[in-house]
Amino acid sequence: MKAAEIRSKWLAFFESKGHKIEPSASLVPHNDPSLLWINAGMAPLKAYFDGRVIPDNPRIANSQKCIRTNDIENVGKTRRHHTFFEMLGNFSIGDYFKEEVITWAWEFLTDPKHIGFDPNRLSVTVYPEDEEAYRYWNEKIGLPAERIYKLEENFWDIGEGPCGPCTEIFYDRGDKYGDLNDPECWPGGENERFLEVWNLVFSQYNHNKDGSYTPLPNKNIDTGAGLERLTSILQDVDSNFDTDLFMPIIERTCEIAGVRYKVNADHDVALKVIADHIRTVAFAVGDGVLPSNEGRGYVIRRLLRRAVRYGKTLGVDRPFLHELVSIVGGIMGVYYPEVVDKREFIEKVIRTEEERFHETLSDGLALLADLVKHARQAGQTEIGGQDAFKLYDTYGFPFDLTEDYASEQGFTVDRAGFDAAMDAQRERARAARQDTGSMNVQGGPLADYTEKSEFVGYNDLTLEGAVVK
Ligand code: ATP
Ligand code: MG
Ligand code: MG
Ligand code: MG
Repeated sequence: MKAAEIRSKWLAFFESKGHKIEPSASLVPHNDPSLLWINAGMAPLKAYFDGRVIPDNPRIANSQKCIRTNDIENVGKTRRHHTFFEMLGNFSIGDYFKEEVITWAWEFLTDPKHIGFDPNRLSVTVYPEDEEAYRYWNEKIGLPAERIYKLEENFWDIGEGPCGPCTEIFYDRGDKYGDLNDPECWPGGENERFLEVWNLVFSQYNHNKDGSYTPLPNKNIDTGAGLERLTSILQDVDSNFDTDLFMPIIERTCEIAGVRYKVNADHDVALKVIADHIRTVAFAVGDGVLPSNEGRGYVIRRLLRRAVRYGKTLGVDRPFLHELVSIVGGIMGVYYPEVVDKREFIEKVIRTEEERFHETLSDGLALLADLVKHARQAGQTEIGGQDAFKLYDTYGFPFDLTEDYASEQGFTVDRAGFDAAMDAQRERARAARQDTGSMNVQGGPLADYTEKSEFVGYNDLTLEGAVVK
């Protein structure tokens, strides 16, 4: 089944259950200074959830483009993470609640008319105190107790405001992906044998200022399922990257670089990172974000530069990312016409930025050559950490490039000094950010911005990990 068909099935299924289909909103939040990017299907619908706006239909479904920079280090390493992905969602604004959402999720996933997963491969997690959810899974759906895992993390809470337990659905990909005796293989563990596909959030409490929780008069449902993950299972491939959503981009990059996929592990990571980042950048530029030195533009600039550097590891030394935009359009244009309609503009922006970065890299190289020359004259054999950091910070010159060049010249680089300078900069950025609450997962050097950020993923509390190599 093609990814586009899965998306259509999702929308048709929830339409048949009385939902209004909303088109994907822009990646750039509208009237919401608390978020840098739309990072979940619910994010553009917040005004319905907090009661500021009453929807004409309390049941809504969508396929929403999302950006999550906190997952950048996972890209290419895990089978399931992207910086840009599509979240399929269904929502109830004070309408249906746990029983319906669980019943429909099961129907959609297991009925051969829709997704048709083997029911024996599905497990779920619930919040330990959420006996209601447990009962629906166990008694109504008939899931045996050993396939219902109780996890303390299954509580979605961003501090003050609506919050509540959630239940997540995992697909067991089988022995090939890990040993069942290893707890890391169980849902919630590090292993990806059980692939998290869908999160159902029951927002039923208000987290009050004084720390207490009281039931909400209007209970809401907010769910999110990753299209790329469903697709990887249905296409029976190793990772999200091996699906029809990514393969044409990887194949084109292979042609450009003259390499082959699945021959060299480092090349594969590079191919995946490039395929990931070009989607993010193409869509963000399509939504009006231009590379710059702050906020969203800075994220885009860093992602592009990261992709260029990974391109270099494949031996590509010329601007090439812009050539992938038409491939992205070919894959995604059916549902997101903006990447096709604005193709020329997106290509031009990316090309210009790539060219600039190549120049910057040569400027950085000239500076580095100069540093080496002076150090040699002074009888030293090491490049200072501050200098290496300046190359990184001002010229986008990654530490490993500095190190490679230095070692060719018989020099070392002061790694500890570089790390200390990096930490100091991070500290400055942290201090500059406002108090953002526990759910600010978009922080880190990639997103060195001052906007407040909240509701970024349901249970992912990681703050760090957005370091650009
Ligand atoms: P994970 O634990 O795998 O990082 P998550 O718990 O952070 O996922 P949620 O915040 O629950 O994810 O988001 C709902 C769904 O969106 C997930 O179940 C998954 O299918 C999908 N999803 C989340 N993050 C990503 C990502 N970075 N790339 C692709 N799909 C994602
Ligand atoms: Mg989750
Ligand atoms: Mg998770
Ligand atoms: Mg996550």
